[in-house]
Amino acid sequence: MSAGIVQAAYIVAAVLFIMSLAGLSKQETARAGNYYGIAGMAIALIATIFGPDAQGTGWIILAMIIGGAIGIHFAKKVEMTEMPELVAILHSFVGMAAVLVGFNTFLDHGDLTGAMLNIHLVEIFLGVFIGAVTFTGSVVAFGKLRGLISSKPLMLPHRHKLNLAAVIVSFLLLMMFVNAEGSMFALIVVTLIAFAFGYHLVASIGGADMPVVVSMLNSYSGWAAAAAGFMLANDLLIVTGALVGSSGAILSYIMCKAMNRSFVSVIAGGFGTDGSASTGDEEQGEHHEASAEEVAEMLKDARSVIITPGYGMAVAQAQYPVHEITEKLRKKGVNVRFGIHPVAGRLPGHMNVLLAEAKVPYDIVLEMDEINDDFEETDVVLVIGANDTVNPAAQEDPNSPIAGMPVLEVWNAKHVIVFKRSMNTGYAGVQNPLFFKENTQMLFGDAKESCNKILEHI
Ligand code: NDP
Repeated sequence: MSAGIVQAAYIVAAVLFIMSLAGLSKQETARAGNYYGIAGMAIALIATIFGPDAQGTGWIILAMIIGGAIGIHFAKKVEMTEMPELVAILHSFVGMAAVLVGFNTFLDHGDLTGAMLNIHLVEIFLGVFIGAVTFTGSVVAFGKLRGLISSKPLMLPHRHKLNLAAVIVSFLLLMMFVNAEGSMFALIVVTLIAFAFGYHLVASIGGADMPVVVSMLNSYSGWAAAAAGFMLANDLLIVTGALVGSSGAILSYIMCKAMNRSFVSVIAGGFGTDGSASTGDEEQGEHHEASAEEVAEMLKDARSVIITPGYGMAVAQAQYPVHEITEKLRKKGVNVRFGIHPVAGRLPGHMNVLLAEAKVPYDIVLEMDEINDDFEETDVVLVIGANDTVNPAAQEDPNSPIAGMPVLEVWNAKHVIVFKRSMNTGYAGVQNPLFFKENTQMLFGDAKESCNKILEHI
């Protein structure tokens, strides 16, 4: 394949990637968006592998078969609830790839001299730095999401100063690296610093703030790929990396707004909590229980119902019976709607995906901002496996780790039914005063089983 054809293929692939992103921004077009992405990636791979710059095509194809088989195996095995972990670990691969490409390019940087050499060395240094931060950051995010590492923030003394020192020392190493026209010592030291920096950045962010971290690492992995693109002088990798980097940054910004957090403090690691914040574990009072039959009666008498799903609905796979309850009630003339918190579940859009899978009509699925004022006029709210996203402590307790995070104000409704298995806390590890309010009743048990029991009585 000639260089001209490869460039043309790259342009087609880049356009397909942009169409993919545009498609993925709406549920109705998300499937098409995925297909555009697949087509773009197939074109990009074929053009790169059979292009004039590639060598050892046999090896590349062998590696792709092995990698592809592992990928298909995991993609088939992974549960929907494990998706965020999978995404986090995949980001770590991008980071590691950028580090390896950096070292490889350094060892084999040809006969560049003068300004071109300096530019190339800066590319290598930054690529390795961003890649290493992305690698360890993503591994920690994986551990936290999987529950292997505590979701509590790591609070080292002088943590901000440590971060600042890491950045300053790295900058000095960059100077040294360029002045020496390449120094393996400087490159190895900055890799180690960046590994520690990435670890610390993510370890110091706790519980409910993880969604921002996941989207931020998504953005970093894009920049790492773009850096690899510069090192390899591959235009498409630069474009693709920049698309992922900037869309991840926009997503992080949206998440920050949804969580009422400052974008800068996320990038700096941690949100200014000093670790002494109350977790609300202390005794909150009595809770009241309801049976599935009682809830069914309540629903039959209701005129308006709002369902606020959360992570527990995903664990229980309760979206199907939830949809059946919705349909039955709507047939009886009850106004049933869904209120979706932007960080409900474990990945952006998690609840929307589940509800779409169960064929819940899009027009009754509303965003938090669209529905939050309507709880006052609502007869029954069904909180299905949600916890942090309906926690009034975010508004009432300034010392709570989730203070300031906007939440679904379900407690304003006449009756609130909380579906969960125990009095355990949610992801952020904070107790929820909602469970102890007068108008709240707990329906204990697996959410899917509880929904099925309710269905029997409606
Ligand atoms: P939470 O994680 O706060 O709570 C989920 C609740 O579901 C738990 O309290 C649990 O209680 C219950 N549950 C679990 N399994 C079942 C089951 N089988 N049946 C019934 N209930 C069940 O959920 P939210 O969706 O409200 O909040 C999401 C949290 O995750 C936020 O803190 C968010 O910041 C964080 N997060 C979100 C990400 C995103 O992008 N959306 C990414 C990373 C983190 P019990 O054990 O008693 O049953």
